[in-house]
Amino acid sequence: MTRPILPGATIGILGGGQLGRMLAQSARRMGYQVHTLAPGADTPTGQIADEVVDAPFTDLDAIDRFARGVDVVTFEFENIPFEATRVAAAHAPVRPDGEVLYTTQHRLREKRALAAAGLPTAPFQAVETSAELDHAVETIGRPAILKTAGFGYDGKGQVRIEAQTDLEQAWAEIGNQPAVLEGRVDFAAEVSVVAARGVDGSLADFGVIENRHVNHILDLSIADMPLEPAQTAAAREMAAAVMDALDVVGVLCVEMFLTRDGSLLVNELAPRPHNSGHLSIEACPSSQFDQQLRAVCGLPLGSTARRVPTAMANLLGDGWARGTPDWMAALRDPGVNLHLYGKAEPRPGRKMGHLTAVGRDRADAERRALAARAALTAR
Ligand code: AMP
Repeated sequence: MTRPILPGATIGILGGGQLGRMLAQSARRMGYQVHTLAPGADTPTGQIADEVVDAPFTDLDAIDRFARGVDVVTFEFENIPFEATRVAAAHAPVRPDGEVLYTTQHRLREKRALAAAGLPTAPFQAVETSAELDHAVETIGRPAILKTAGFGYDGKGQVRIEAQTDLEQAWAEIGNQPAVLEGRVDFAAEVSVVAARGVDGSLADFGVIENRHVNHILDLSIADMPLEPAQTAAAREMAAAVMDALDVVGVLCVEMFLTRDGSLLVNELAPRPHNSGHLSIEACPSSQFDQQLRAVCGLPLGSTARRVPTAMANLLGDGWARGTPDWMAALRDPGVNLHLYGKAEPRPGRKMGHLTAVGRDRADAERRALAARAALTAR
């Protein structure tokens, strides 16, 4: 049996963003120490951590020293080089395993793993040259979406292929690099299931969350998407199948499309807590960050039962265009909580924080989250 990593031990987080920050908040609340490694001296995670290593993820000597000083290593974003996880694993367990990262940081490997696990995705084809793009568009048809195989998130590295799109130009636009062409799904909704899996294989998920995007970036999430019971069960089973197939220890998010005929297709996987799961901080006894901590430390998972209907609205840097948002106005609703990530510079499209609202029911939570966000800039 693997020995649990108990309070007082040190959690090593690769990555310095808001996901690491909220994990660090959970960890410190439970009496753990937190070390973080990321490029930058003042990071959202570093502000909460006990120790900060300012180094790029490609600095394997720094990773080696970092891993010697912690009891477990986890990560808070995908684009950590696989090599870094191998170096770290010589000194401390890396959870989820670097193999999970290796699979999910590359769209083609991820889609192949999903197919191997028997899970449905949009039709796709690998594209490595401009000639292959012509061929793939003939097979898949238009409209389609061309996505770079590596290092993409929030719609970065994506080009839409419409009826009139010039393929040479589309290929140049994503930078002549290995890519995946996907058929465009005419979806009725986008949903996600955030799940945790313990060292012992135990599973817990946060139900089916509805997600609305604006410009490819998550804008609003609402807990408990009202689906047919069989659809809810199918979505949760898909998440469980992914967790088992990839042998994940930690938290993983499965983003899905709900098609107009009611079936579910997996869009992508994120092997870490996810923006759509932020609402679990208010909605559930154990949040996605509590679960990540418990899973990677080999503790029993906590309860993900819904305490209250909940919705979350993201705060992007755009909201600072006319000065500091009016926090007083948003917080006048006692059901609203504010989360800010400690980022100094509010650039457009940058995730600066989020608002979570609880309500009588889903519609009430949604309305309150949107009203609070609107109030921020109403002055
Ligand atoms: P991704 O970075 O792949 O998660 O894409 C970001 C967003 O683009 C998704 O949440 C969807 O709103 C949209 N999108 C991505 N792939 C597809 C697809 N195959 N069909 C329709 N919409 C898509």
